[in-house]
Amino acid sequence: MVVEPKVRGFICTTAHPVGCEKAVKEQIDYVKSKGKMSGACAKKVLVLGSSMGYGLASRISAAFGMGAATLGVMFDKPGSVNKTGTSGWYNTKAFEKFAAEENLYAKTINGDAYSEECKKEVIDTIKADLGKVDMVVYSLAAPRRTVGDVVYKSVLKTTGAPYTNKTIDLRNNTVSEITIEPANAEEIEATVKVMGGEDWEMWIEALKEADAIESNTVTIAYSYIGPEITHPMYYEGSIGRAKDDLLESSRKITKSGIRAYISVNKALVTQSSAAIPIVPLYISILYKVMKEHGTHEGCIEQMQRLFKRISENDLNLDDEGRIRMDDLEMKPEIQAEVSEIWEKLNQDNFKEFTDIDGYWKDFYALFGFGIDGVDYSADVEV
Ligand code: NAD
Repeated sequence: MVVEPKVRGFICTTAHPVGCEKAVKEQIDYVKSKGKMSGACAKKVLVLGSSMGYGLASRISAAFGMGAATLGVMFDKPGSVNKTGTSGWYNTKAFEKFAAEENLYAKTINGDAYSEECKKEVIDTIKADLGKVDMVVYSLAAPRRTVGDVVYKSVLKTTGAPYTNKTIDLRNNTVSEITIEPANAEEIEATVKVMGGEDWEMWIEALKEADAIESNTVTIAYSYIGPEITHPMYYEGSIGRAKDDLLESSRKITKSGIRAYISVNKALVTQSSAAIPIVPLYISILYKVMKEHGTHEGCIEQMQRLFKRISENDLNLDDEGRIRMDDLEMKPEIQAEVSEIWEKLNQDNFKEFTDIDGYWKDFYALFGFGIDGVDYSADVEV
């Protein structure tokens, strides 16, 4: 069938298999262009949330930068006769194909990473194929988590008082004001359950119990801080509470004998970040400013740089013990320009002061659309 993008707000309900494959290949080529990493490279890497965004870029950096065997976990859907699969599904098929061409082990388990069954299946696979893993990347971004009979739903809200600021309505590219209502205690607790560190700790415990993890393993999870304009929405919002919990978990895991780190990454267009109010408008300004300064990076540039730093033990932790991959985003001169634009931004001038085209290009690319060299009028097998 001919596959076209069907965008509803911040979601695209179709994905292009050939475009996804080409986009994955471009990420692989980028990592390969940087050369093999030296130093302490992980050899057997488990990536939880491996099919898109930062998790996919981590898997590509581990495989094609470190030469590692990778086992991925994703929550994606294959295509059917008249419906496309998810982009994560096609990305993963592409990744596995390119890994096989270079004799790199790559298996992927499609299931709910929060569940006991998935943990068991992953551990059985590790025991059968790899023995033990020596790196665990925790890159889940999920709207919900089921524990027994309870479904916890994460919310993207502020905490404390309502917060009003500018946002962009991605359905019609209009800049307007939005008031974010505060999350109540129950919603905060649910968000922490979904996006906090409890499940990360459970994974590490399960791997330890099964003797499926090397004692010198590094485990890493991803967080975000960002500038003050986004703090009430993110850093001090319900998701920020979950990220505080994730940091606490990194300390507990480290105490238990496995080195655990939080890497604070740059704000980027991914399926998950597009859902957060205010943040996409900030991202479209940030893209413009960072591109003008020549310091813009995507997921793959961030993760290649992170994995290289890990292999060289060049972590340069901040006061809270976090790795700061948002160093370029948070440079004072970048943030000063972003704030200046933020102040004067309105519906009439936003095309001039934001890289909204770059935002949308990245958004479509997440689903395999708008990739150079792909014939979108051709029939493709979904
Ligand atoms: P993403 O939406 O691109 O990818 C999420 C991944 O999680 C996918 O592979 C998906 O299949 C998987 N997943 C979701 N639910 C799952 C489940 N129940 N079981 C198994 N797999 C599941 O997300 P992303 O933006 O790359 O986010 C990854 C991490 O990076 C998150 O912790 C996020 O907070 C963090 N982060 C993101 C940004 C950003 O701007 N995007 C910035 C800093 C940190």
